[in-house]
Amino acid sequence: MSDRHAPLKASLAHLELSDERRTLKTKSRDFFWYSPVLKRRMDHLVADFVVAPRDEHEIAEVLAACHAADCPVSVRGAGTGNYGQIIPLEGGCLLDMRHITAVSIPAPGRVVAGAGAVLRTIDRALAPHGQELRLYPSTRSLATVGGFVAGGSGGVGSVRWGMLRDPGNILRLRVLTMEARPRTLDLTGEAMHQVIHAYGTNGVITEVELATASACNWIDVAVSVADFAHAARIAEEVVASDGLWIKLASAIAAPIPEAFFPKLAARIGKGNSMVGLMVAPQSMPAVEALFDRLGGAAIAFRSDRDGDEPGPLHAYCWNHTTQRALLVDPKITYLQVGFGWPGNHERIAAVRARFPDEILMHLEGFRRRGQAMLAGLPLLRFTTEERLEEICAELQMMGCGVYSPHRFTIEEGGGNALPPEQLAFKLEADPKGLLNPGKMLTWHEPDWTYQRMFDHGGRAAPTGRGAAGRD
Ligand code: FAD
Repeated sequence: MSDRHAPLKASLAHLELSDERRTLKTKSRDFFWYSPVLKRRMDHLVADFVVAPRDEHEIAEVLAACHAADCPVSVRGAGTGNYGQIIPLEGGCLLDMRHITAVSIPAPGRVVAGAGAVLRTIDRALAPHGQELRLYPSTRSLATVGGFVAGGSGGVGSVRWGMLRDPGNILRLRVLTMEARPRTLDLTGEAMHQVIHAYGTNGVITEVELATASACNWIDVAVSVADFAHAARIAEEVVASDGLWIKLASAIAAPIPEAFFPKLAARIGKGNSMVGLMVAPQSMPAVEALFDRLGGAAIAFRSDRDGDEPGPLHAYCWNHTTQRALLVDPKITYLQVGFGWPGNHERIAAVRARFPDEILMHLEGFRRRGQAMLAGLPLLRFTTEERLEEICAELQMMGCGVYSPHRFTIEEGGGNALPPEQLAFKLEADPKGLLNPGKMLTWHEPDWTYQRMFDHGGRAAPTGRGAAGRD
């Protein structure tokens, strides 16, 4: 079979480049397989070659060469995304950011990191300065800061700082465009929304500047609660208490702890739900007082008293809840559900009552414009794609927002809409439509009606606006 990218690869041969089959298969994957729907559709997709540039100059060289050769480019951070975000639908070049890792601390309260820097490494660099990351995904030990900005949304720390995109969390993004002569842009303020959570479809982030927080010696706390609705109220009350310094507040329904958390199951107890918290030492007495006032909450584990045998609590929360369940029961998958406000607790109760066997509730506390909120990452006992669709449609009819983790486009995973500035920026920064093609649905099918899943078709030629946009 002829190698359509042979001349391009030869021109980049002085860089760290591989087209070895096993490397390509491994590097082209993320955690898309948490979704049986995506697993079926994306398992076969691989890049044609992977390049790991050593600096911004080499990244620009790769982009210029791929632009000239009409070769698609998908950026890879650590590949911990959940929706097949890095999977190259049209093959081509996988741009591996693992060498772009410089970290510097220019002033208290801010950190500058190469896009490929791993979040835990950044936290370790901040520690001697008495600082830490405000926010991180529960994959902190693997995920890169560029991947978090381009593919993530929030996580540990969102109880205090809101979501990653909220004003003040990201201070500056340095981005390379996909043009004959790639331009370097330093984006600040509202302009950053052009590339935040755009899956690398309209620019390559090379450097990120983040606001940081004062470091804290967090205490992990797991609380056993007999009734899940009460557990959710406790989690919400902790988030809503402005004077408490916390980093995490999760509510996880029975039987999840006893079925899927072997190192915590005995402590939480049979049939009980769990509240998971990260609490600053000085806030612990106030949290205990809050438990006394609300009643029905028994501290089952606290890391300052019971050691670290279960591992960090954040690795039971956010999407690590799903990961732990999948390790035990491969038929489990998950949903991402917004319950709206007000009426959050009533709608959560209604969903549990409507799907008692299929949905196992899991909530994460976060802050939105100062308001304590609970978002759903419930586990789902998967049967068929049709049933999954029925459940999502019913949830929407019940007034819930569904942000499907069983879709690979930005729009379908984000409530069926693209921030208009992201399309406008793509027209400017990637006029040929070569960056991660197929992931920005609006680029290909501006009039898509969302009644069925967008099917770009692996390695198919782009259609619609993307084709028209080629120069
Ligand atoms: P990748 O998976 O490599 O990339 C993600 C997307 O960003 C891709 O579209 C990629 O092309 C693009 N991209 C990567 N680097 C760049 C760059 N330099 N320039 C432009 N585009 C780029 N996410 C959360 O938000 N919160 C969580 O709490 C959370 N928990 C998780 C738990 C588990 C168990 C798993 C499997 C995933 C979880 N995630 C979570 C998803 C994911 O781990 C995070 O979003 C993570 O930050 C992604 O980083 P990464 O380096 O692995 O990115």
